[in-house]
Amino acid sequence: HEAKKVRNSYKYFNQEMYQKSMENSDIEHQLRHALDNDEFYMMYQPQISSDMQIYGVEALIRWENKKLGFVPPDKFISVAEDNGMILKIGEWVINRSLRDIKEIWEETGHKFHISLNISVIQFMEAGFLEVLLDAISEIGIDKTYVTLEITESLAIEEFNYVIPLLNKVRENGIEISLDDFGTGYSSLSILNKLPISEIKIDKQFVDGVLKNTENSLIKTIFSIGKNFSFKIVCEGTETAAQVEVLKEHGCDIFQGYHFSKPLKKDQLIRYIKDFYDRR
Ligand code: C2E
Ligand code: MG
Ligand code: MG
Ligand code: MG
Repeated sequence: HEAKKVRNSYKYFNQEMYQKSMENSDIEHQLRHALDNDEFYMMYQPQISSDMQIYGVEALIRWENKKLGFVPPDKFISVAEDNGMILKIGEWVINRSLRDIKEIWEETGHKFHISLNISVIQFMEAGFLEVLLDAISEIGIDKTYVTLEITESLAIEEFNYVIPLLNKVRENGIEISLDDFGTGYSSLSILNKLPISEIKIDKQFVDGVLKNTENSLIKTIFSIGKNFSFKIVCEGTETAAQVEVLKEHGCDIFQGYHFSKPLKKDQLIRYIKDFYDRR
């Protein structure tokens, strides 16, 4: 009976692995032509400060493929990282997002921050900073409004290599945000050395904020953030009740479906105009 169970789970495991690798090879194949075929587009999710202003937006990539349909970034970014395509895709994201944001600033008369998700691979590629700075100066936007989101694992795994790079980014007036905060394993001694100005508390903690059982954990996360004087962004804020409690904890910036889902450029322009018309 035990043997059968083991055999079955083995079979199941293999099928799942097989399916996953087929899926990934489909993704990889389709991804090769995605840039040339113009299959990517960007969406922007508003970030609202605790005094109810539009602080900024996070740029989120979308991929619509003829054969595969809509493929979420959680599925294709890792494939693109494995085969190096993330470099070209990441460059495209930077250029498209900065161009869009400049147009939206001009169209609405409101300036706000733009947060870009940067993959480990992209960040560590020689010349990454030059690519970014070139795009910023060519497009002509104020770089103090640009924030790079990196994940905890990037900062920790490649600690010695990454710190000087992060410092260079900071010296250029570009801010750094630690994404998915709390899900990795950053220790206090590392946080101390990271030139970041912001942490993004992961949705899983925001989900738990109304449960008394998780209160001490959330308090700890906030007190770490406050001690280091980081701006604290709460990801995946979905309800007014969460906003209220998170405000009491000291959340500076909210991002989530309660305020808005990610929006296409034209929708974002509408959102910003409506947001300020309402006052
Ligand atoms: P992330 O950077 O942590 O982005 C936040 C994710 O949470 C986004 O998913 C966003 O749509 C989703 N989200 C925001 N508010 C809510 C909410 O209230 N409820 C729920 N259920 N979800 C919410 P998305 O767009 O699917 O992106 C997933 C991940 O893919 C991102 O996580 C990021 O790691 C990666 N990604 C997205 N765009 C890019 C990109 O341009 N470059 C790179 N390298 N990675 C990207
Ligand atoms: Mg992010
Ligand atoms: Mg996140
Ligand atoms: Mg994430």
